[in-house]
Amino acid sequence: MSEQRSQAHSTSWQGFSTRAVHAGYEPDPLTGAVNVPIYASSTFQQDGVGQMRDGFEYARTGNPTRRPLEANLAAAEEGTFGRAFASGMAATDTLLRATLRPGDHLVIPDDAYGGTFRLIDKVFSQWGIEYSVAPVSDLDAVRAAMRPTTKLVWIETPTNPLLSVGDIAGLAAVSHDGGAKLVVDNTFASPYLQTPLTWGADVVLHSTTKYVGGHSDVVGGALITDDEQLDADLAFLQNGAGAVPGPFDAYLTLRGMKTLAVRMERHCDNAEKLVEFLAGHPAITKIHYPGLESHPTHAAAAKQMRRFGGMISVELARGEQAALDFCARTTLFTLAESLGGVESLIEHPGAMTHASTAGSQLEVPANLVRMSVGIEDVGDLIGDVEQALEGL
Ligand SMILES: *Cc1c(COP(=O)(O)O)cnc(C)c1O
Repeated sequence: MSEQRSQAHSTSWQGFSTRAVHAGYEPDPLTGAVNVPIYASSTFQQDGVGQMRDGFEYARTGNPTRRPLEANLAAAEEGTFGRAFASGMAATDTLLRATLRPGDHLVIPDDAYGGTFRLIDKVFSQWGIEYSVAPVSDLDAVRAAMRPTTKLVWIETPTNPLLSVGDIAGLAAVSHDGGAKLVVDNTFASPYLQTPLTWGADVVLHSTTKYVGGHSDVVGGALITDDEQLDADLAFLQNGAGAVPGPFDAYLTLRGMKTLAVRMERHCDNAEKLVEFLAGHPAITKIHYPGLESHPTHAAAAKQMRRFGGMISVELARGEQAALDFCARTTLFTLAESLGGVESLIEHPGAMTHASTAGSQLEVPANLVRMSVGIEDVGDLIGDVEQALEGL
């Protein structure tokens, strides 16, 4: 099994936070603007026919606010090429179209973002693309699910919503043995906690809507790879199909990146303390948090993650109604889909984010509640959860 690759990239001598603040942008040579300007321009003047300034021609193809974001995301993931998209799903759609043809097959997790499953199951299946389902934590099951036509092994780690962790190096070896590429949806960990390319993954996907943006104020997605041909194929579709972020969105996402490290530390601190509180609570039968030593995939998490993240899922002892009541009773934890923002959110996956998995192999437990732990004062968060669980 391959180990983590050595720090091969020129940016790697700088720490994560330095790269997150600086990579991709130098103060503007003309004005000295310390922050990247929002270039609200759809087209760019040419000095002569085909003579573009700094490569900019038309803003679907490239935009001077988006380009620093793409470079910054690539540096954060210790990758070579970054591409930004209008949403995580736009990134997913672009990657699937760049890599799969009719008759091809991919392996997907038995626990995954509902929208990813829906796109593969409802849309790509219409074009003769087949999939099999396997748990990311089980290398033998992933190997067994592969076929001669398998082009992609698609994983999330930690998974959404059960927080199961896959050993990325092991999965990369299994994928490559079978002639497939390994895709890692790194949304839940963020590049601060884990860099899948350094463990052998071929491409990393983000919903930058979540931790990267970090303030629940922008929707976006990204793909990062070291594979030059794959990046060229992604760039062709990024321009050719056009699911790009506008300059305002690119600006907000890059602004989020600058504080990712400090936010993630606080998300992790708060989640760990909340897990401690929940562990002793009679209303809770099961806590899904990879930082718990009792978590079935804790070893893989400890190997490849800096810390264990801000997402916690719990199962309620008294079943689905208790789960729904818990979600309805919190006041500081806002009842809402999404995750990764500074504010704490709570949701019922079965009825909300994962409703599209009902009746499938990806169906989630009905008594499950997912919490995105924000950066508020942890005493207030624990107090809110305590009052909401009272009597449940
Ligand atoms: C939200 C999410 C997506 C989809 O991203 P959008 O930005 O909502 O399109 C994909 N994967 C995971 C793990 C997510 O949480």
